[in-house]
Amino acid sequence: MSTTNQHIRLVETYAAHNYHPLEIVLTGGEGAWVTDVDGKRYLDALAGYSALNFGHRHPRLVARAHQQLDQLTLTSRAFHSDQLGPFARDLATLTGKDMILPMNTGAEAVETAVKVARRWGYDVKGIPADQATIVTMAGNFHGRTTTVVSFSTDDIARRSYGPYTPGFRVVPYGDLEALDQAIDQHTAAVLLEPIQGEGGVLIPPAGYLSGVRDLCTRHEVLMIADEVQSGLARTGRTFACDHEDVVPDIYVMGKALGGGILPVSAIAADHYVMDVITPGSHGSTFGGNPLAAAVGHEVVQMLLTDEWNSRARALGDHMTPRLEALREHGVLEVRVRGAWAGLDIDRHLMTGYELCHRMAGHGVLAKDAHDSTIRLAPPLVATTDDIDVMVDAIEKSLRA
Ligand SMILES: *Cc1c(COP(=O)(O)O)cnc(C)c1O
Repeated sequence: MSTTNQHIRLVETYAAHNYHPLEIVLTGGEGAWVTDVDGKRYLDALAGYSALNFGHRHPRLVARAHQQLDQLTLTSRAFHSDQLGPFARDLATLTGKDMILPMNTGAEAVETAVKVARRWGYDVKGIPADQATIVTMAGNFHGRTTTVVSFSTDDIARRSYGPYTPGFRVVPYGDLEALDQAIDQHTAAVLLEPIQGEGGVLIPPAGYLSGVRDLCTRHEVLMIADEVQSGLARTGRTFACDHEDVVPDIYVMGKALGGGILPVSAIAADHYVMDVITPGSHGSTFGGNPLAAAVGHEVVQMLLTDEWNSRARALGDHMTPRLEALREHGVLEVRVRGAWAGLDIDRHLMTGYELCHRMAGHGVLAKDAHDSTIRLAPPLVATTDDIDVMVDAIEKSLRA
């Protein structure tokens, strides 16, 4: 039995079957490339769903993590560490907001935004107790907690986890009319992804985000942008909202904020929102810990120049015409924003999973979104040659 099969059998025997990974066992990674236990190299065109925007083991981030490991790793928030302040200040600067609230995973940051929005709804807007609603979008992905799956429209993610948390209204994504209808005097917030990542890199119609902003302002409702996957340079701007010069009331961040090293998430908001949070009303043992703050701070400092945004734009400019040319080979739809792409393939040809399986055979790792859609999110350290390797692998896989 090969080592690959031994590893897979261990996982299948002792770890719950909550994923269906490609049958490859990785052991090393550097930049945009990973190596499996048999020494075969692959281009990582998923990049941990954008958690690896800076690639595997970026030297600057690894050095900062090592340094902090030798200094102080955990305090809990019962005590101050010297790492949280600089991280909070610079992340506030990056977002243009007054304050941040640090957590760990993306789902926790979404939960945090939901709690803050509800409190704001009661304490500031004056919504009667327990009547607040939050409007969310069909096809959303905001994480896996019981409250978050309560407003999921994906049956696989939601089934048999009830009773579900009340207080959410789901409207079609991209439909301003439906959103307007769903908002009433009890609405505290609108929660959306500015681009739906798990949904298949769905980019809403031009003008939609600014339309959402206008509706929220007009009805005194908080706009919450979940930028966990779309933010931090993936789309060629710091935030996907920047493409329409839209500023939400709350940014939700995660994934790349941890530099591909550890989970780091946060929300950012101004005082008029964040001041509803008081000691003891929310928290996390690990949120804002010194190691996370040190790595997160290094990430933020890297993002304070345009370097990563311009890399994402350059990769997007290079991949767009090449992906468009795949229409000859059964690709029906191509959506690109920065270094992020969703491809719909002819469902009669193969499923997204089958395509990803074949691509792995050609040395490129990608992930299906659903049915016959795949998403591509190479690390921003990838070169244009790497992008060619990626597109060539798709083409060969579709032709086979
Ligand atoms: C991945 C993701 C989350 C959840 O993040 P976790 O760290 O997996 O909890 C939330 N929102 C969006 C948009 C995501 O892509």
